[in-house]
Amino acid sequence: MFYLLNYFIQMKILLNNNDLNEALYNVSNLGFVPTMGSLHKGHISLIKRSLKECKKTIVSIFVNPTQFNNKNDYKNYPRNNRNDFSILKKLKVNFLYMPKKNDVYYFKRKSLIKLKKKDKILCAKYRKGHFEGVIDVMDRLTKLIKPKKIYMGEKDFQQLYLVKKYIKKKPKTKIISCKTIRDTNKLAFSSRNKLLKKSELKMAKKISSELFLLKRKLGNNKNSKKLISQKKNQLTYFYDIKFDYLELINISTFKNSNTTKNSKLFVAYYINNVRLIDNF
Ligand code: AMP
Repeated sequence: MFYLLNYFIQMKILLNNNDLNEALYNVSNLGFVPTMGSLHKGHISLIKRSLKECKKTIVSIFVNPTQFNNKNDYKNYPRNNRNDFSILKKLKVNFLYMPKKNDVYYFKRKSLIKLKKKDKILCAKYRKGHFEGVIDVMDRLTKLIKPKKIYMGEKDFQQLYLVKKYIKKKPKTKIISCKTIRDTNKLAFSSRNKLLKKSELKMAKKISSELFLLKRKLGNNKNSKKLISQKKNQLTYFYDIKFDYLELINISTFKNSNTTKNSKLFVAYYINNVRLIDNF
């Protein structure tokens, strides 16, 4: 009987705001996992946490055009709906929201989102307009979905920090930070890994292992700046990669740090045209 019941409880696919409003009418204790699809083990860990902690779970798949500062990057972003459906169905997610651009951007903002000067570091410095786009879309999705909890990954630590700081949410909506899921070489799972050739993926794994070890080596070493700069030069030379940044940042103040105390090593680099980010 239970098996039979389970068979009929299907994931609802919501393709527009009418579907969304109808489905969420009367739903409380809702967990929300925003994604851009091409799902992997990192996303799955967020979804499993929501399924465990909330009565119902909604996952969104929306490749948000406004957060891409490069048209080709948006065009080439990996998309794999068929595989995503099958993952979400297996996980027994209650709702999948796949809006069109007009469903999300159906109203014009009264005032532009502007980052404070002190927040314009790391990706905010190198990807102009990126976080303004992320904050805007998160603000809009939160308004539409009205979840109790939003699950986000520490893999995108700066995104998590800025979304917590800038989105206007109901006081009852909580943002839950979730640990980064990595493979055995310490490479974080990422949709962008799918854009790498086999040899490039191997390289990314080696770079992740090296950065993980560097963070350990830094400890309370007073020469952290020098060690980081040396490693950056070494990796650039050896793997022919291009860094946007490799910086130790205090995660409370979000300012440069000299020790690993309460700090993380943030990295963004390119393997050919593929930009990877992480923090250790
Ligand atoms: P994305 O689809 O890349 O926009 O990511 C959707 C959510 O999944 C974001 O909150 C990410 O931080 C999170 N995420 C992506 N990769 C990982 C990972 N390897 N471990 C944990 N969370 C992740």
